[in-house]
Amino acid sequence: MPINDRTIALGAGIAVVAAVVLGVLAWRLRRAAGGSKRGSVSSGNLASSLHDEQLRSSIILNTIEDGVVLIDSQQVIRLFNPGASHMTGWSVEDATGLSWPAVFKFVNSKGEPISTADDPVLKLFSTKDAVRNSAANLLTKSEKTITVSLVLSPILDEQKQVTGGVAVFRDVSEELKAEQQRAEFISTASHEMRTPVAAIEGYLALALNDKVSTIDSRARDYLEKAHASTQHLGKLFQDLLTSAKAEDGRLTSHPEVVEIGAFLEQLTGDLKFAAEKKGLGVDFTLGATRTIDASAGNSGNKVIRPLYYAYADPERLREVITNLFDNAVKYTDEGKVTIGLTGNDQVVQFFVRDTGFGIPAEDIPHMFQKFYRVDNSATRTIGGTGLGLFISRKIIELYGGRIWVESELGKGSTFYINLPRLSTQRAEELKGRGETTILRPTTSLTQTP
Ligand code: ADP
Repeated sequence: MPINDRTIALGAGIAVVAAVVLGVLAWRLRRAAGGSKRGSVSSGNLASSLHDEQLRSSIILNTIEDGVVLIDSQQVIRLFNPGASHMTGWSVEDATGLSWPAVFKFVNSKGEPISTADDPVLKLFSTKDAVRNSAANLLTKSEKTITVSLVLSPILDEQKQVTGGVAVFRDVSEELKAEQQRAEFISTASHEMRTPVAAIEGYLALALNDKVSTIDSRARDYLEKAHASTQHLGKLFQDLLTSAKAEDGRLTSHPEVVEIGAFLEQLTGDLKFAAEKKGLGVDFTLGATRTIDASAGNSGNKVIRPLYYAYADPERLREVITNLFDNAVKYTDEGKVTIGLTGNDQVVQFFVRDTGFGIPAEDIPHMFQKFYRVDNSATRTIGGTGLGLFISRKIIELYGGRIWVESELGKGSTFYINLPRLSTQRAEELKGRGETTILRPTTSLTQTP
């Protein structure tokens, strides 16, 4: 599990424990107060069980390293444990009784105070739901910035009104730094290794070229295998580099206005040979509207195709569609691959459909995770890195879009992409400002270091 998920899960767990402990304590106190009036509770037992309860709560709160803070409906800090004190630099005595914003100053990546819309406590009171942030930048009392993973859970009364909140947080600065270093290492190593691998691949290709080299059939067999493995290695390094960049937001992107219909049509033309080589058909379907063309007289029926504009880097989109298309070909033995386009006022939707192996239902939720590969007899022998779909998701999310798959085992799969649609007017405006080229020549994506 990635660090962020782990910390969130841990934080959520502790929040629940703390909320339960505090809730039980408050309930017992209330019950004790009511009970003693009615005189129905044995005062000796009550005192000892209350004492036990309080002791347990205070042991937990004083021992755990995570910060635990209880605020009331006025955002006043009612409880501030030593863990919170250790991280923020505020003493328990000083922080208790102060308002939440006086102690918890969150800043953005530029060190500026976060906007009110991002304020976790305001969010808590407005949404009445737990607020989670796996990497919030918090200023300590001495104005040092630390990154914390924070879970803020609401305390609700019987009318479901928020009467306060419990915050549980932990310092993840070191973990983030270590993760960043790991990503940088992968990025540098893949980049450095790509160059010699490309050279090896080039020389192997020369050795296999009849016009340049003379080799016997056994040597050809060996070199072909070496060539295929080198190509696989080159792709792995390239994918590792791209995914490392996608994760830390360094993926280069030059978005522009793209008319997805023309874009897909051209791309299908470029890609179809790979499918045809394997004996698969290739279809391109486009949402078309048949209208009467006045200038062509009564008999003239003309197909007017709606224009589907989106704002994205065409080279990145090409990378995504190529990956989906390559997968469709790779995981299909017979039938066809269809690229299609539809949409409505808000959304441009395109898809890559195949008639191949399909994907087991239990694998579908994991398909866009890093290194995830379906492990069954049909796919086991087919090479791959398990990074293509992860990279595709990151790219599509970069443009505010969504990617998902629907599939039936043994029948085939359809990978869908939704991108926000630009109205023709908006597209024209952006084009007018020079923020466009409709199509670029067909080149494969070149990685920038
Ligand atoms: P790779 O294909 O390099 O392994 P991807 O991230 O592109 O990596 O795909 C992840 C996994 O998803 C693949 O290993 C394969 O098991 C499965 N998969 C992807 N596309 C398809 C498809 N069109 N049909 C069946 N399975 C697919």
